[in-house]
Amino acid sequence: MQDIIRIAVDGPAGAGKSTIAKEIARELNIDYIDTGAMYRAIALKLIRTGVDYNNPQQLEEMLKTTDVDFADGKTFLDGEDISGLIRTDEVSAVASPSSAIPAIRYKLTDLQQAMGQRKSIIMDGRDIGTVVFPDAEFKFYMVADPEIRARRRTEELIMKGEKAEFESVFAEMVKRDKQDSERAFRPLKKADDAIEIDSSNLNIEEVTNLMLSYIRKEK
Ligand code: C5P
Repeated sequence: MQDIIRIAVDGPAGAGKSTIAKEIARELNIDYIDTGAMYRAIALKLIRTGVDYNNPQQLEEMLKTTDVDFADGKTFLDGEDISGLIRTDEVSAVASPSSAIPAIRYKLTDLQQAMGQRKSIIMDGRDIGTVVFPDAEFKFYMVADPEIRARRRTEELIMKGEKAEFESVFAEMVKRDKQDSERAFRPLKKADDAIEIDSSNLNIEEVTNLMLSYIRKEK
């Protein structure tokens, strides 16, 4: 087995990336890094400060003094644990368009690459296999039928005690996928050498075992 392995997991919203990546991290005893949470942290700062991400000067000033970290399953913004504040519709709605801005992507990509420098990791996002770790030892691209993804997300929100309706979750998801895959700079895209996993008809255990079987075969 190689000393360090980096596992990239990309795909659209609600495909199950974070659930599966956490399971695999636990099985292999490696760190899990949620890059979506990092883009959400920047979005939260934009909302809090009122900075316009389309204004390059304002954005540059803000980014210079912004620190984002993901450690032990928690997301930190300037040292504050903001994990409980970033899963709202408001933050999702700002995270998707602001993540299209190159200055934001450069900053977070640098941080993410540093995180995978010295230890084994599984990282999920939209551009991990294409941009952050193009030489990752394993690359997966997770997909699922949009209705199934929206249904799962609705159930997840209801389980957490939040109000959620399938129609609005579905509409928000479709909009976000379109923005993420059609943006000009580093869009959501399957890496040519990524293994595609369709989780539409598989449960969490089945998807985890399928991905682990690819990893264990090669290690
Ligand atoms: O994965 P999650 O839904 O939390 O990500 C929130 C948003 O952050 C996505 O809709 C996407 O616009 C952006 N994102 C990104 N690149 C990543 C991870 C997330 O552009 N690597």
